[in-house]
Amino acid sequence: MDTSDLIHARDHLVDACERFVREAVAPHLAQWERHGQLPLNLHAQAAQAGLMALGYPESVGGTPAPWALRLAVSRSMARASGSGGLMASLFTHHIALPPIVAQGSAALHQQVVLPVLAGQQIAALAITEPGGGSDVAALHCTAVRDGDHYVVNGEKTYITSGVRAHWITLAVRLVEPGQPAPKGARGITLLVVRGDSPGLSRTPLAKMGWHCSDTAQLHFADVRVPVAQRVGDEGAGFALIMANFNAERLSMAAMALGFAEACYAEALAWAQQRHTFGAPLVAHQALRHKLMDMQQRIRAGLAWLDQLAREADAADAASQAPNGDWVAGVCLLKNHATDTMQWCADAAIQVLGGLGYMQGGVSERVYREAKVMQIGGGSSEIMRDLAARQLGVV
Ligand SMILES: Cc1cc2nc3c(=O)[nH]c(=O)nc-3n(C[C@H](O)[C@H](O)[C@H](O)COP(=O)(O)OP(=O)(O)OC[C@H]3O[C@@H](n4cnc5c(N)ncnc54)[C@H](O)[C@@H]3O)c2cc1C
Repeated sequence: MDTSDLIHARDHLVDACERFVREAVAPHLAQWERHGQLPLNLHAQAAQAGLMALGYPESVGGTPAPWALRLAVSRSMARASGSGGLMASLFTHHIALPPIVAQGSAALHQQVVLPVLAGQQIAALAITEPGGGSDVAALHCTAVRDGDHYVVNGEKTYITSGVRAHWITLAVRLVEPGQPAPKGARGITLLVVRGDSPGLSRTPLAKMGWHCSDTAQLHFADVRVPVAQRVGDEGAGFALIMANFNAERLSMAAMALGFAEACYAEALAWAQQRHTFGAPLVAHQALRHKLMDMQQRIRAGLAWLDQLAREADAADAASQAPNGDWVAGVCLLKNHATDTMQWCADAAIQVLGGLGYMQGGVSERVYREAKVMQIGGGSSEIMRDLAARQLGVV
């Protein structure tokens, strides 16, 4: 795709995102936040608008697209909606499906990937456990082989779309009957589990933000999963999980910058119309500078995002794996973008004054939803540590 085609396609997608939010999301968002979840038909509407399957191969019902376009969707949907809950829950499949697309059987592609990309079903990813999320290699949930099934026992927590998911991409530790569980990354395997499996119970969790996103604790008690629903080889799960994280973090950075832009837009509109001491707020230097400090952070993030997207597309075109410098860049950009989101939400509420503290505004929601962006998908501390290792600091 040459540059003018790319710009044309990006503009078309941004329009589609804005229309989708205006028509299908904005009129209902407050009701979904009260209800604690999104309706299933929203997924189908998003699929019809061409927003669900971007970046997936045609063989699984997708529309191949470069990073520049995929990230444009993340950024503009975030900017238009100002809702992290919408983004997290509508697009959970972007963290649940990639391992299945890469290493799952043709039957799993048919049974799981196609209906999810068509917006008919929902997929979630379950890695984090009550015992910890950052240290993925320490997970405890076990699977023991029994003939042509695995028998799964354990707990997962904070799982996005976990209440509604028809399919759960689940990280387990394989254990030989009668043997002690192997330690570390060895033995971690991914299974695809039906949401209605006997023995699986799900408890909804209440949160600070992301109110329209259903988040669940999952309890597995002797849940039987066909061996045919394993993704990749036994013990291959850790590498698949790590490969998945780069894309998740890049998308989170794009979203965080979109949310920061939403805060800027709300603060700017208010600062231009609100008068104090005989002048609009923008005429007061202290507030004008606040707005420009927002722009400074957002623009630095967007330029960095663009650079990493171009490098990722070039690596994909050359069938090369991402190098350490790029991975470090993704980690540090995730931190920059999520810090920018938090900083801009705070600055915007200051510009809005008391109005900013009232429920219902964009910045008020983004303020409550910034923290989870610094925790999920690899926390800020884990990002710094991983970047340091990739750059050979330690
Ligand atoms: C709303 C929400 C949705 C989520 N959705 C999902 C989902 O869909 N699927 C899923 O699997 N998980 C999900 N998570 C879990 C998320 O990925 C984890 O919360 C995250 O990985 C951190 O794990 P933890 O909460 O167990 O914190 P811990 O790992 O216990 O860490 C606690 C604190 O210690 C810090 N820390 C840990 N180790 C180090 C270290 N070596 N050096 C310095 N600091 C350290 C962490 O940065 C963090 O600040 C979600 C979480 C939330 C809040």
